Formats: sequence, structure tokens, C-alpha cells
Amino acid sequence: MGRELLFAYIMRRIDHTPDLATFVLKTEPRDAFSWLPGQYCTIGIDDGKGGIVDPRPYSIVSCPEDGVIELFVELGPPPDGNLTPKLWALKEYDHVRLLPKAKGKLLFEPAFRNHVMVATVTGIAPFLAMLWRHFREQTLADHRFLILHGARYQDELTSRYRNELSDLATLLPDQFCYVPAITKPDEERNRGFLGAVGRLPSLLEGAIASRGFVAEETIVYLCGNPDMIVAAKTIAERLGCVTREEQFWKPAKEALR
Ligand SMILES: Cc1cc2nc3c(=O)[nH]c(=O)nc-3n(C[C@H](O)[C@H](O)[C@H](O)COP(=O)(O)OP(=O)(O)OC[C@H]3O[C@@H](n4cnc5c(N)ncnc54)[C@H](O)[C@@H]3O)c2cc1C
Repeated sequence: MGRELLFAYIMRRIDHTPDLATFVLKTEPRDAFSWLPGQYCTIGIDDGKGGIVDPRPYSIVSCPEDGVIELFVELGPPPDGNLTPKLWALKEYDHVRLLPKAKGKLLFEPAFRNHVMVATVTGIAPFLAMLWRHFREQTLADHRFLILHGARYQDELTSRYRNELSDLATLLPDQFCYVPAITKPDEERNRGFLGAVGRLPSLLEGAIASRGFVAEETIVYLCGNPDMIVAAKTIAERLGCVTREEQFWKPAKEALR
């Protein structure tokens, strides 16, 4: 396995909050790793003997054409997190190890006219990659997009990604709708927030209706928190929409009851 592993340098690190960061990685050679927008890579710490420590999957924000692998990562919940505390200790020009193949089946499905993308915090990653690809190829206008991005606090939506999505909504108001949402509106950290308030599953039906999306032409992609995915999937399927999902961790037992 050691010989198959790739090196990736941290070209840039952006700390959005104490527990949310973007890592922009560069492989050597530059084209050593390829992927489809929506897929994920697996990274870990170099063990110094050609191996990898604590490999974990991360959805890729960037497109292959960008020449870098951009990841949007949340520091794992202590004391359980194994990889993320080690990642947090890394700085620019440190390196990580990368498994050579991208994986994942959460891919854009062009047969549908309407694309509803529902994400908690870092779950926005695969959708950003899909959207950049369409923006670059100027095919955004062939489809209609509704993006629901939820977090507890507005800074967890991050100005980096929130601004990019807001710009697309301004540029293509008929094709593209972006709904940033928070769940703790009364907290000081959310002062001045002008987006939606509430959990994503409770916002989903109204958001789809407000865009006039017909169920048969609509696919709902869900990514991130498994509890959100279980609840939102139930609603999307009740409406008659096809769903696709990528769960970032195992659901709480309560959500399965
Ligand atoms: C396909 C896929 C794509 C993923 N993409 C991303 C991504 O783009 N960005 C990202 O930050 N994470 C992503 N994850 C989660 C990531 O792989 C790790 O699980 C996470 O970073 C924690 O790793 P850790 O080693 O620090 O914690 P671990 O040692 O793996 O342990 C953490 C424990 O908490 C659970 N857990 C993991 N993440 C969370 C969380 N956010 N909140 C609550 N519990 C959690 C785990 O299931 C585990 O029980 C993805 C997971 C999968 C399966």
C-alpha cells in the first residue's frame, strides 16, 4: 500500500473558525490524482515509513481543472477525533499522504432539470465542485439549482463559500437560488444574519415549492450530517423527488427509529 500512496503539500490553509478550515492541497506530480466533481479523496498523516496514519475521506471542493485539491474540514468532536486534531497541527508546506484513487457516487445527474442540493456545513463541498464545473463549461443555465446550506452559526457557512454562492445567485437569478440557513438566530454570533432560520428538513418543502419545481423533474442531493439526511430524505421522497446522499458519519440511533 505504501508505494501507491501520493504526497500532497498544503499550499494554502484558511481558518474560518477555530474548528473549520479549508486545506488546499497540491500533489506531486500535479496530475497524479484525478476525480469527478462530487467525489472524495482519502487523506492521512505520513507515518515516515511510506505509510499513512488515520486515513479519512473528504469530499473535494475543487474541480480537477483547478490543479489543486481543496478540502473543507471540520475539526472532529473531541475526544474522539483521530485525524482532524493532527491535521489542525499542520501548517502551509507541510504534507499529508493521499490514497491514489478518488471514490464516491454522489455525482451530478444531468437527466434532471432541477437540482436541489442540501448540505450541512462542510457537506457543501461536493456541490461546490459540481457547480464550478457547470459554471466553467457555461452549462449552469441548462438546469435550475436550489442550494440549501445550513449551520448553527453564520460564520460556519464561511464567507469564502457563501460569497461565491451568493454571487452565482445574483448572476443567474432565474437558474440559481441560494438559501443560507442557521438554527440559532438569537445568539450573538448570528447577529445581522439575513438568511433563513430553521433546520434544513423543515425549510426544504417550502423552498422547493417557492421555485415551482415539479417532483418528476427534480433530484435532491443530500450531504453532511446523517440526521439531516434521514429527515430531509423522508420529505423529498414524500414529495416524489429522487434523492442521492453522502453521509459524513454514522447516524445517531434516534434518527433511525
Ligand atoms: C464520503 C465521506 C466524505 C466526507 N467528507 C468530509 C468533508 O468534506 N469534510 C469533513 O469535515 N468531513 C468529511 N467527512 C468526515 C471525515 O471523513 C471524518 O470522519 C471526520 O473528519 C472526523 O475524523 P477524525 O479522524 O477526526 O475523527 P474519527 O476518529 O473518525 O472519530 C470521530 C467520531 O465522530 C463521528 N464524526 C465524524 N465527523 C463528525 C462530525 N462532523 N460531527 C459529529 N460526529 C462526527 C465519526 O463517525 C466518529 O464516530 C466525510 C466522510 C465521508 C464518509
